[in-house]
Formats: sequence, C-alpha cells, structure tokens
Amino acid sequence: MAVRVVILGGSFGGLASAYELRRHLRPGECEITLISKDQRFTFIPSLPWLALGSRTLEQISFDLGPALASREISFAHETAIAIDAERQIVATEHREHVYDYLVIATGHRSANEAVPGLGPVSGPGHSLMSPSEALELRGALARFLDSPGPVVIGAAPGASCIGPSYEFVFELDHLLRKRHLRHQVPMTFVTPEPVLGHMGMGGVGKLRQFLEGEFEERDIGYRTSVAISKITEEGVEIDGSKAIPSALSMVIPPLAGVAAVAGSPGLSNPKGFIPVDSSYRHPTYENIYAVGVAVALPPAGETAVPVNFPKTGHMTEQMATMAALAIVSRVSGMKSKTHELAARCVLDIGSRGVYMNVDPVRPPRNKVPTVSQGYRWLLTKYAFERAYLWNAKRGRRMPTALGW
Ligand SMILES: Cc1cc2nc3c(=O)[nH]c(=O)nc-3n(C[C@H](O)[C@H](O)[C@H](O)COP(=O)(O)OP(=O)(O)OC[C@H]3O[C@@H](n4cnc5c(N)ncnc54)[C@H](O)[C@@H]3O)c2cc1C
Repeated sequence: MAVRVVILGGSFGGLASAYELRRHLRPGECEITLISKDQRFTFIPSLPWLALGSRTLEQISFDLGPALASREISFAHETAIAIDAERQIVATEHREHVYDYLVIATGHRSANEAVPGLGPVSGPGHSLMSPSEALELRGALARFLDSPGPVVIGAAPGASCIGPSYEFVFELDHLLRKRHLRHQVPMTFVTPEPVLGHMGMGGVGKLRQFLEGEFEERDIGYRTSVAISKITEEGVEIDGSKAIPSALSMVIPPLAGVAAVAGSPGLSNPKGFIPVDSSYRHPTYENIYAVGVAVALPPAGETAVPVNFPKTGHMTEQMATMAALAIVSRVSGMKSKTHELAARCVLDIGSRGVYMNVDPVRPPRNKVPTVSQGYRWLLTKYAFERAYLWNAKRGRRMPTALGW
C-alpha cells in the first residue's frame, strides 16, 4: 500500500516538499496530498513590488491545482483547523485527512496586535506580509503620492523578516526621486536591530557599513535598537515617547504560528512555532516534519530589543529538501543527509541589487559572508522571480544556487 503524505501549506515550503518527494517516490509508492487555504501560490518576495505598483498579483501567482496535478499530487483547497498528532489526522473545515507522514509548512500569522495602530484593518499603520496587505499599501501609497509628507518605515520588536523593510525604504526612495517628490518627504528607518544589516543573523559581513553609507548618501534617517510602541495618524511612537511624524508608516510585525498549529496540543512552542531536530522532524511526533517559517529557531544572540532569527525563502527550500529526503529515506531506505542552513538572497535597493551569501546563517562562521552590489544583482532578482514561477507552475523545482 502507498504511504500517505499530507503537506500543509502551498507556498515555498509546501511546494518544495511536495515536488522533492515526488522526484524520489512514484505515485504507487506515495500518495501526496497538499492542503492550502490559498488556491494560488504567490511569490511572496515580490510583495514589495506589488505594493509599489510594478507587479500585479496575477503576474506573481499561479493556480496550485494544475501545477500539482502535473506531478500527480492531489490538491485540497481547504483550511486546516486542527492537527491530531496522536491519531495522525489533519482536520479541515470540510473533512479529515489521515496521514502516515505530515509536513507542516503553514508559515506565519502576522502578530500585528503587538504594535497598537499597526493596521491595516485596525489602525493607520501598513504592512506588506501578505498579498492583501501589500495591495492595501499600494492604495495608501497612491493617495500619499498625491499629498506627500514624512514617512517612517521599519520593523517592530521581535520581527524576524527584516529584509523587506530595507527593500521598501530604498524602493520608495527611488520611486520618490523618479517622481521628483523626494525633497518633500523626510524619511526615517526604525529597527530593533542593534546595528543596520543585523537581519536577525548577527550581521552579514560588511552589510552594516554598506547600509549606513546608502542611508547617509540618500538622506534617510535611521534609528537602531528601538522599539516601536504605537502607530497613530500623526506618527510612529518609539519606546513610548514622542512620535516621529509620519503620513505613511510601513512596519514589519513580529510573527507567530498559525492558529491550526498553535491550537493543536503538543505541537508547538508558546508562540505557535514548531520545534524540530536537524532533519526538521518533530521531537515528539516522529512522523511530523515542519519546514519554513512555521519552524521554531532560536534568536542568533541577545539584543537590547528582541530580534528573531530569519527564515528566508532560500532557507525554507533547504529545510523542505531535508525533510522530504528524510521521509524518502524512511520509506525507501535511501540515505539522507542534513546540513546547517545557508542564506543567499538579493535585496532590491531601488537602483541596484545587493547580493548576500551567508553560510551558515547562524554565527560564528568559518566563511566570510559575501556582500556584493550592482545593477546586475537587480537583474538577477527579476530573472529569478520569472524562472521560479515558470518552473514551479510546471511542477519543477528551481536550482537555488543563485539565491534571491
Ligand atoms: C514581503 C516579503 C518579502 C520577502 N522577500 C524575500 C526574499 O527576497 N528572499 C527570500 O529568500 N525570502 C524572502 N521572504 C521570506 C519568504 O517569503 C518566506 O521565507 C517564505 O514565504 C516562507 O515560506 P513558507 O512555505 O514557510 O510559508 P508561507 O510563504 O508563509 O506560506 C504558508 C502557506 O501555508 C498556507 N496555510 C497557512 N495556514 C493554513 C491552514 N490553516 N490551512 C491550510 N493552509 C494554510 C498558506 O495559504 C500558504 O500557502 C520575504 C517575505 C516577505 C513577507
């Protein structure tokens, strides 16, 4: 009888796990069902471009059903409500899915409630952690461009996904200069990081010096080791004191695990993230694996204001490969290996790209991180987005050698 693998989540972690499993196990050996509350895969790293109007949601997403069907993987467009790890069942709003192995790749819930006023639903602050938030920010930006004023961009205490806040501040700076509006917009970047470019990784080679230079050259004020305490219509309050004036505030929130995971007994830590071993297997439930943002990874070190460990798309793909190969090894006896996570990624800084290669992500490191900048890296980022979507839509994995 074929082994039943259920994969929860249809983004980088879920898709990479499904495709990797299918590369090694034929449909007769392994039935794979991927459950996702979203019908479409969205290339999340392009959300800043969606917010700035240079992409449509259609351009950066595709239907999961046909892509998965091309690899004989079943797709359930359903929302998981609970996981019964003892009975090996995932309950959705429609039915129960029984599994022999479960891969959880449900990503995060944005804990916007940690910062009063961080909307977009319940306050004036904006975010871009999801397609709907990025689209809301796009509308707010259009209104702002008609009547510009000061902006504050940054990350809240406890944030782990800090890269997009750097991308957004530089991309907005670039857009404002192109429209000859930059002189009307005082810009401030605020971050819990102890220094610019810490990124929750304890720093990335010469990235700090590079970012300081860029901010100073472009006249963007910055404050590090600060805790955003409130966002109002007038501005962004820091450490409970006087607000920095702001007509448009974009703040990356801290993250938590999704309700289905956080509410299922014995699965996660108090924040709803899932503990794992080196093959991304749950320490108690040995047939459950977790990958991507859903995984609990401790911070890289203590900081005055909390900054959490990042889980980038490239890291998610590595976790998915290791988890899938661990399952293959248990099903077929094939040997599998694990390794420390590396991170390669490209930041869009408006007019250019910055390539970073950090191996391993968690310091100390034997290899000195690479930080390289130039227009060619921005072109690489554009090409990677296109190539990833082209391949994933056709049931193929993308070699991640170049990074994002
Ligand atoms: C704005 C932004 C820019 C970024 N830029 C980069 C970048 O340039 N480079 C980089 O490497 N990384 C980047 N990242 C990080 C990268 O996007 C994440 O690492 C990646 O999306 C994590 O993938 P994931 O599969 O773990 O989770 P997610 O992408 O969060 O996906 C979670 C999936 O689970 C599904 N799901 C959730 N709950 C349920 C449920 N209850 N039932 C069923 N399905 C459920 C969702 O529908 C979704 O399909 C960026 C992130 C953001 C927010």
